[in-house]
Amino acid sequence: MSNVTDSITPSSFAAATTLPAELLSSIEVGVVILDRNFQVQVWNKFMENHGGKRAHDVIGSSVFSHFPDIDQQWLRTKVDPVFNLKSPVFIIWEQRPYLFKFGCNRPVTCAAEYMYQNVTMFPIVDKSGNVEQFCMLVYDVTEQALGKLGMEHLNEELKVASRVDGLTGLYNRRYWQERFDEVFKLCKRRDKPSTAMMLDIDHFKRINDTYGHQAGDKVIKMLAALIKRCIRETDLAGRYGGEEFAIILTDSAVSNAKVVAERIRQLAERLEVEHEGQVIRFTVSLGLAQFDTNFKGSMGWLELADQALYEAKQNGRNQHRVFETVTL
Ligand code: GH3
Ligand code: MG
Ligand code: MG
Repeated sequence: MSNVTDSITPSSFAAATTLPAELLSSIEVGVVILDRNFQVQVWNKFMENHGGKRAHDVIGSSVFSHFPDIDQQWLRTKVDPVFNLKSPVFIIWEQRPYLFKFGCNRPVTCAAEYMYQNVTMFPIVDKSGNVEQFCMLVYDVTEQALGKLGMEHLNEELKVASRVDGLTGLYNRRYWQERFDEVFKLCKRRDKPSTAMMLDIDHFKRINDTYGHQAGDKVIKMLAALIKRCIRETDLAGRYGGEEFAIILTDSAVSNAKVVAERIRQLAERLEVEHEGQVIRFTVSLGLAQFDTNFKGSMGWLELADQALYEAKQNGRNQHRVFETVTL
């Protein structure tokens, strides 16, 4: 909060009305004095320049009549301690971006739509010890706010980037694994069964060899989009390896998961990926394993789905196979 009180403090401010006029007009802080009825008494140059209202137009009338955007009820409540307890009150931009809606003062270089403000309000105590007026200091903190918001935005982007596979937009293996461990723990505590699904593109090496690596990438990307369309938002899908995907169909018994697997398989079979004037077609194999409370760890569960996938490959590819828990 240091920036709020750096320039003028209540003690140095004795009575704003007696401040030298040059100081009031040259200071890069808004100085406003209001009475109990929020009628403007002082309105300095900063407020004129940024608010587009001349002092002689606003002095003597209610600040709310000039700035109808200000939430009257909220501000009156906020200012209460200034009169009742003779104590200062602060409004910071994180709480409300601004009190007075001013445009950003550097329209070309400034990315903000409006001026972010910190506002300090403190009582002006008269000779008899009463508070009939209070002062508002309005600080332009746009630069500081944009810096902080930009940083938060950047951090958020970094966080997402560290979780997501760049080619497909699905979770990467590391993050998927983390989430899978959580899902596994949840499954242990829940009644509803979930099913793990491993998917691998058939003869993908041939696609790369025939059409090139970029074409292969396109196939992976299109398939990921297809998978996303076939599953629910609550399901957990990740790119597990080059052309391998791992999906947890939450709250789905294997009977339901088989329907999803078959839908994915058929759509993949029908999908035509165009690359440099050529049409690429491909198929996928899938392995399914339903959760069982006897599983010791998440990896044990996934290995069973992988085993079912291996069987699908052995059995001729372009099909799904289920790991039957009875064989455990
Ligand atoms: P199978 O039916 O047995 O799965 O045959 P396959 O040819 O798909 O066999 P395998 O899984 O061994 O081959 C996967 C190939 O995928 C090998 C690798 O060069 C390629 N690959 C891995 N990651 C990528 C990628 O990000 N992009 C592309 N284009 N190719 C990749
Ligand atoms: Mg593979
Ligand atoms: Mg493969």
